[in-house]
Amino acid sequence: MSFRDEALKIRSLAMQHQKFFSESIPLIASENIMSPLAMEMLTTDLGFRYAEGLPHHRYYQGNSFVDEIEDLTTDLGKRLFQSAYCDPRPISGTNANTSVIYGLMKPGDKVAAPDLAGGGHISAASFGAVGLRGLKILNYPFDPETMTVLPDESSRMIVKEKPKVCLFGQSVFLFPTPLKEMEDAFQEAGSRVWYDGAHVLGLIAGKRFQQPLREGAEIITGSTHKTFPGPQRGIILGNTGEDIWKKIQRGVFPGTISNHHLNSMAALGVTMAEELEFGEKYAAAIIENSRTLAETLHSEGIKVLGESRGFTESHTLVADVRVNGGGRKVAEDLEKSGIIVNKNLLPGDTSKDSQNPSGIRIGTQEITRIGFTKNDVMDLGRLIAQVIKGNKSPDYAREEARSMKGKFRAVKYCYGKMDPYRYIEIFGE
Ligand SMILES: *Cc1c(COP(=O)(O)O)cnc(C)c1O
Repeated sequence: MSFRDEALKIRSLAMQHQKFFSESIPLIASENIMSPLAMEMLTTDLGFRYAEGLPHHRYYQGNSFVDEIEDLTTDLGKRLFQSAYCDPRPISGTNANTSVIYGLMKPGDKVAAPDLAGGGHISAASFGAVGLRGLKILNYPFDPETMTVLPDESSRMIVKEKPKVCLFGQSVFLFPTPLKEMEDAFQEAGSRVWYDGAHVLGLIAGKRFQQPLREGAEIITGSTHKTFPGPQRGIILGNTGEDIWKKIQRGVFPGTISNHHLNSMAALGVTMAEELEFGEKYAAAIIENSRTLAETLHSEGIKVLGESRGFTESHTLVADVRVNGGGRKVAEDLEKSGIIVNKNLLPGDTSKDSQNPSGIRIGTQEITRIGFTKNDVMDLGRLIAQVIKGNKSPDYAREEARSMKGKFRAVKYCYGKMDPYRYIEIFGE
């Protein structure tokens, strides 16, 4: 193969990927699709430039428009989340977390965090960012049925151990964290409260789920591409004092990044404006769809977690598919059917193999963004259940999924209209 052929091979694979997704139903709980205006920002000259430090105090020339974009994006973030401070520079949710860890904590400090079985994220694990800083990790007791931190038991742990920082927020995030119930414990222990809203940032922006900054949290970090429908990037929001905020910002730069990817910052700013306009309607529709999907699967005989509390109050639902052949088999059968989910370990999973766990995780944020409403979700739920139970072959289901997806070709809750899979038509195969 010539180098040219190899380049074209990569392009061809990217186009095949795009065609595959254009015909599939995307249900990964951490993904979303961007608006046309935000996508346009990614292809501008901004993506080739450098801007280090803060606006109007840069190290390179050429940043005058960048500074204006960053000022505007920061201000939109403060308005959207009603926070005193916003830093839109982290280039991922993990980078936002690493910045806070680096800015606020020293090796040997204690941090309390949810563990992986309780839906915690790898950045809060000993082999992730928290471990990199040499912190001592304590895990909260949680309820395995709802994967929610237990407030009384956790309060006792916080008062006894006095962690410097109490970190909350999960990657399997079905129900709000009971922050208010633990307020006295935070006070007594003198702990700072940090909420990792990576998964639920768009629900917070849409005034759903919970409002951590109004419930005792001082800092929120997040990814801007999960329920928040923007570019793959991160953010830090703060209602801290100025001195603490400056430490966090030094954790961003020079602590953990140099340049901060200016094209995706512009895409983030555009998405924030769209969220200020459409975010509340979008968040409400996401949650209605996740509850509908959970109820449909449940009525088809699939074991969905959190039944006692109505299955979910977020974009996510989790099903225990042990009796259906396990998480790996089910996720693979669904993929062959053009329905994309991930296998997931359940709390207290009888399978200790993360490559073959007992559960699957499903999110409704992306299908909601392309216009699925209640009846569409019920049709989809019945199709998923048939595949899980082995009543329909993946080949058969694939045709149904493809024709279902064909009806949803535009991104909603944004300015402008465009088929997100347009490149297929431009380049062809
Ligand atoms: C996804 C996630 C992150 C990290 O986000 P990236 O943007 O993928 O780096 C951090 N914390 C939690 C709880 C997450 O779910």
